[in-house]
Amino acid sequence: MPPPPSHPSTPSKKNIGLFFFIDAFGWEVYQRNRFFLADRVKEARKLETILGYSSACDPSIISGLLPSEHRMWSAFYYSPQTCPYRWLRFLRFLPDALFNRGRVRYWMSQWIKRLHGFTGYFMIYSVPFRLLPYFDYSEKRSIWHEGLLLGKTIFNRLDEQNRPYYVHSSGTSDLQRFTELRAKLDDGAIDFAYISLGRLDALMHRVGNSGPEVSDLLRWYDEQIRATIASAERQYEQVSWYVFTDHGMHNTIGSHDLIADVERLGLDYGRDYVAFYDATMGRFWTLTDRARTALTGLLANHPQGRLVPDDELKRLGVYFEDRMYGDLIFLMNSGIPIVPSFMGSKRIPGLHGFHPQDADSYASMLSNRHLPDSLKRINQIYSLMEAETQDTATSGNKGNT
Ligand SMILES: [Zn+2]
Repeated sequence: MPPPPSHPSTPSKKNIGLFFFIDAFGWEVYQRNRFFLADRVKEARKLETILGYSSACDPSIISGLLPSEHRMWSAFYYSPQTCPYRWLRFLRFLPDALFNRGRVRYWMSQWIKRLHGFTGYFMIYSVPFRLLPYFDYSEKRSIWHEGLLLGKTIFNRLDEQNRPYYVHSSGTSDLQRFTELRAKLDDGAIDFAYISLGRLDALMHRVGNSGPEVSDLLRWYDEQIRATIASAERQYEQVSWYVFTDHGMHNTIGSHDLIADVERLGLDYGRDYVAFYDATMGRFWTLTDRARTALTGLLANHPQGRLVPDDELKRLGVYFEDRMYGDLIFLMNSGIPIVPSFMGSKRIPGLHGFHPQDADSYASMLSNRHLPDSLKRINQIYSLMEAETQDTATSGNKGNT
């Protein structure tokens, strides 16, 4: 049979969906910077975030599942039997001062990561060295390039369909990512793109959630995103774009030493209980009745935060029947971090991970498309990505411009 006639002079243009993830570009940050893509946005929506950190939000966005379903919530969980770096216990006799240096922690993290072949984001933060052997780490594999513990990501699905797409690689700057993506778009080489951008989150942790530096950086993102959309519009029939995030940013207004409160109870860490102190949450595994009674007494009446009850954890999508992430979950009052915590030894001006229903916690979604009414929480961004990839696979007419 002869091959079908080709028409090199009229290449059939494809559609594309561009997903720009700006870490911590929350609804309130957007409200203070409404110049952002102002003439291009067709619809903007405030979205509820997920209690926790990027370690919970990113997997939810790319899979559509909640943490209770994909089982990735905080980075560290109590599991001394499966802890891959249990050998660190042999280092517990070395002085704490050695391990408390930032550079030593950074290089130790890199070393552990390479030694164990972790491909995900791995950092030991400020977890005391002698306590590391109690904890396993949820993001040992790259969620972007390999997938989750449970459930498929949008990238797993595109791989199964042999569809070409762009997703950022770790260890590259925001500018490198924009440059790489525009090169792919100029070649018309992809059907879909997801680009994660980290500079705004890093800046606001340092300076807080408003001010000239924040607006200047958003102006830079505005230019980069416009240039990227323009590249796509030259090569593709229809371009749908979405600018979104996982959570907002609070300014901190104080801090509290929760670790000292717990230590005053006189319980034995490792025998009575195990605790992990995230920046805004204390998570406790109670190993004895004595510890459960004492910790509940302390935390149930604590002025700087509250124990989150099971029915609320369920509603928030972060309830785990097997108590993988702790059987007492204590959330700090908004704006008051735990300092020192296992994530850092000093108070920083900007922080996220407080209650999802605080104004400063809400995420945002902006698009040149109408957004479905059902879109309310960040894990539902997944359905938009799925719809975009189905559209580009089937026909050239979306009818929703
Ligand atoms: Zn952050």
